[in-house]
Amino acid sequence: MYLLDDVHHELRAAARRVSTEKLAPRAAAVDEAAVFPQESYDVLVAAGLHAPGIPEQYGGDGVDAIASAITVEEVARVCASSCAIITSNKLGVVPLLHYASEDQRQRYLPEIASGEALMAYAISEREAGSDVAAMRTSARLDGDSWVLNGVKTWITSAGIARYLVVFAVSDPGQGSRSLSAFIVHADDPGISYGEPERKMGLKGSVTREVYFENCRVPVDRLIGERGRGMRVALGTLDHTRVSIGAEAVGIAQGALDAAVAYIKERRQFGRAIADFQGIQFMVADMGMKVEAARQMVYAAAARSEAGSDDLTFFGAAAKCLASDTAMAVTTDAVQLLGGYGYTRDFPVERMMRDAKITQIYEGTNQIQRVVMARHLLA
Ligand SMILES: Cc1cc2nc3c(=O)[nH]c(=O)nc-3n(C[C@H](O)[C@H](O)[C@H](O)COP(=O)(O)OP(=O)(O)OC[C@H]3O[C@@H](n4cnc5c(N)ncnc54)[C@H](O)[C@@H]3O)c2cc1C
Repeated sequence: MYLLDDVHHELRAAARRVSTEKLAPRAAAVDEAAVFPQESYDVLVAAGLHAPGIPEQYGGDGVDAIASAITVEEVARVCASSCAIITSNKLGVVPLLHYASEDQRQRYLPEIASGEALMAYAISEREAGSDVAAMRTSARLDGDSWVLNGVKTWITSAGIARYLVVFAVSDPGQGSRSLSAFIVHADDPGISYGEPERKMGLKGSVTREVYFENCRVPVDRLIGERGRGMRVALGTLDHTRVSIGAEAVGIAQGALDAAVAYIKERRQFGRAIADFQGIQFMVADMGMKVEAARQMVYAAAARSEAGSDDLTFFGAAAKCLASDTAMAVTTDAVQLLGGYGYTRDFPVERMMRDAKITQIYEGTNQIQRVVMARHLLA
């Protein structure tokens, strides 16, 4: 279904160089500081890696979905928090690219492509996580504005992003046609933010609640048609879950690399622990799983690029397989480093904490299985 070409290989080499030289040395500090890594963002922007896939006509690099996945993978390999800047940006870009008007695309995409503005995506609420349709944030039409009221929870880059794609109930009781999607500006009157959440991992990615109190949004900031927000939300996730899969592959590869380097150096019983077959079988399984997940992610990326009918299945499968792989591989990497793996002196414990989120956000892996089963049983 797909073949990597020279462009993909060159992009990987370039992304790996920037990640290894400029992001890796600060990754542990980003995790410790638990604040938005502005320097890492500046590095991504300078290298043109912060928003891959925006078409050239809007000032972007115009790379395809596999190239975007490779970029995400290479950044996540060294620093998942920096990678989350790219993946959360994409959550805002995809609704613009696929569902917004040409005017809206021209208005917002160039600022994102240049790195001047970051995007956020606000769907989750305290009582509406997996059950998106249970959301309570309301949008009431009043003259030439929509008036938003409610609370969004767990919003990545909230307070940093200049623009947010926000989902709200515009047409209560209309079932799958009750939600609409809006572009909200961070400085719109009536919007405010909570304190950053104190998380297990992905600490350099800022996660906050967003409060809307009579927040007025001009009517020309509705994305697509009124009442079609659920379509925008789910259609976006089909594409962006491929990126979470790529993020997970990157984290897993980073942990595998660290473990392989360590077991060749570490000596016990008079020899390198890599000489023990029990250890060799573990790294063989880790490498096999990472490669299987990578191929699944690229297969899904090819479908994202082509807009294939089975993208919903492939996006969910790639995210689910890769994130379960990342959790297993990072846990095994900690095991291979023994006591040292359990300390912050080595990167694998951070990778294990960072891997966990890939099983949770953009739909938990239980929800991915619900999505896949629905597709198979249809
Ligand atoms: C760091 C972080 C960043 C995030 N960023 C964003 C963001 O930028 N924008 C945004 O909108 N959201 C964001 N989220 C929210 C995230 O997408 C939700 O946390 C996730 O969808 C799960 O929702 P929940 O936390 O309410 O869990 P719940 O829905 O309460 O789920 C709890 C448990 O029940 C399981 N469960 C629920 N329903 C079913 C079912 N039908 N069958 C089987 N099991 C089920 C779940 O799998 C899970 O194990 C972020 C979350 C985190 C932690």
